[in-house]
Amino acid sequence: MVDNVVIVGGGTAGWMTATYLNATFGDQVTVSLVESPNLPTVGVGEATFSTVRHFFHYIGLREHEWMPHCSAAYKLAIRFQNWGGENEHFYHPFERPRHVDGCTLADWWLKVGSEAFDRESFVLAALCEARRSPNRAGGALFDRNLHDGGDLPRREVMNGADTQFPYAYHFDATLLAHFLADLGMRRGVHRVLDDVERVVQDETGAIDHLVTKQHGDIYGDLFIDCTGFRGLLINQTLGARFESFQDVLPNDRAVALRVPVDGESQGIAPYTTATAMDAGWAWTIPLYDRIGTGYVYSSEFTTPEQAESDLRAHVGPAADEVEANHIRMRVGRNERFWMRNCVAIGLSGGFVEPLESTGIFFIQYGIEQLVRHFPGPDRSPALRDNYNRLMAGCFDGVREFLVLHYRAARREDTPYWKAINELPLPPGMADRMELWKSRLPDSGSVIADYHGFEPYSYAVMLLGLGQRPRYPHPALRGLDSAAARAEFERVRAEAEQLVNTLPSQYEYLAGMR
Ligand code: FAD
Repeated sequence: MVDNVVIVGGGTAGWMTATYLNATFGDQVTVSLVESPNLPTVGVGEATFSTVRHFFHYIGLREHEWMPHCSAAYKLAIRFQNWGGENEHFYHPFERPRHVDGCTLADWWLKVGSEAFDRESFVLAALCEARRSPNRAGGALFDRNLHDGGDLPRREVMNGADTQFPYAYHFDATLLAHFLADLGMRRGVHRVLDDVERVVQDETGAIDHLVTKQHGDIYGDLFIDCTGFRGLLINQTLGARFESFQDVLPNDRAVALRVPVDGESQGIAPYTTATAMDAGWAWTIPLYDRIGTGYVYSSEFTTPEQAESDLRAHVGPAADEVEANHIRMRVGRNERFWMRNCVAIGLSGGFVEPLESTGIFFIQYGIEQLVRHFPGPDRSPALRDNYNRLMAGCFDGVREFLVLHYRAARREDTPYWKAINELPLPPGMADRMELWKSRLPDSGSVIADYHGFEPYSYAVMLLGLGQRPRYPHPALRGLDSAAARAEFERVRAEAEQLVNTLPSQYEYLAGMR
């Protein structure tokens, strides 16, 4: 049996894994975490998926218990700015399209829509523009359209009164790691503050123990590599092959700024903004008391100095006194995430540019699947192999979805954007793009084995970027469109009512404190 799990790395991946395993196994499994006091963690101001709410539910935390400690705010959508042309924007919301007569409102919109697809089909677009909180004090909204994508084993520790609208969070990942560290240690996770100097394998090649600078040797049954881009255990020790995605996603660097803001006077936007730039794109992630912003770019098309200068021009004088953080990104995934008795979770397993906020989603998915595939007495390799298949499928699905953003944008105004259109497509994607010219994406026409994004997300990107199928679905020909028109009207009325009754995001979060 696995009785003793040793995690190396104290970033978001390490502490999310430690607290989740502790919540699952309690004192049946000893969880230890070794983290260097010298090597920093990544924390730029992170945006997440709505699935992240399950993580907090699972470990038994309510929003008011953790959000104020992590500078957290709500996220209802991603706003894509200038991707389809200057001064154009649209939202990719955490809200599934409704159905009328068996067809989605996206299908109906192609037939009877008169305004922008996102505004007409989702209430969340209006809430974003009005900077509303998805929650009101003590009150439950509605719980439908939750983009949760999962049927994971989880404890029913639900939040009670603050029943939700579909949303995710923005937070400071470094602060979250600190918060989870305190929580984890109170619940029995052993923390060792030390550097791992060497990883020693046994005669079978499995990891036997870690050699630390000051705490001697640390033994375990299962080792989790959460050492970030270094991949100390999985790559450097066990030699996992890293498959780069750079042939299709060429951005390899980022420059980030932490910009202080006064939420009270400026408000807090409840969405991530991804703004197209000359050699990549810039993220804007509003936290409670600052904005995390950064420019993700390809080093083939701009220099770090130029990228920093472009980012500062994009942000304006608020960033004048702020120091920039330049980051090299290892974009791609390990061929295998689990090798022998070691599982890589977080940046050590893989990473793609944060265009759809997938970093923490990958971590959560990796942990949840680890619990599902946790080794029993037989240590069956079939568990490991299935884990590797699922994780690889998840990353490859996200890769394709990100490539779609660039291809559907069809910008040609700089050498970078021209070059992007010439890159190869991931396997099978050309056929799928051809299909989407005649039919909106559905479960049969997005990449198989895909976790995270649903077909509606593909439709939102295609329609937001003006790539509509050539004609509406033929099944709509004989159907009366009155019910669909009424549904569009209902979306408009609900959005108006919510904008008029929900508090601003700032007001709600200030109240939580
Ligand atoms: P790290 O934070 O790098 O932590 C590594 C840990 O390993 C540290 O504690 C370090 O001290 C320890 N360590 C390393 N070597 C040793 C050793 N020898 N001995 C002991 N300890 C060791 N994710 C999102 O979900 N949304 C976003 O918007 C987003 N934006 C991002 C933007 C950029 C530019 C980047 C680079 C990442 C972004 N991410 C985002 C990803 C997210 O930040 C990471 O997934 C997350 O912070 C987890 O990092 P980690 O814990 O895997 O690694």
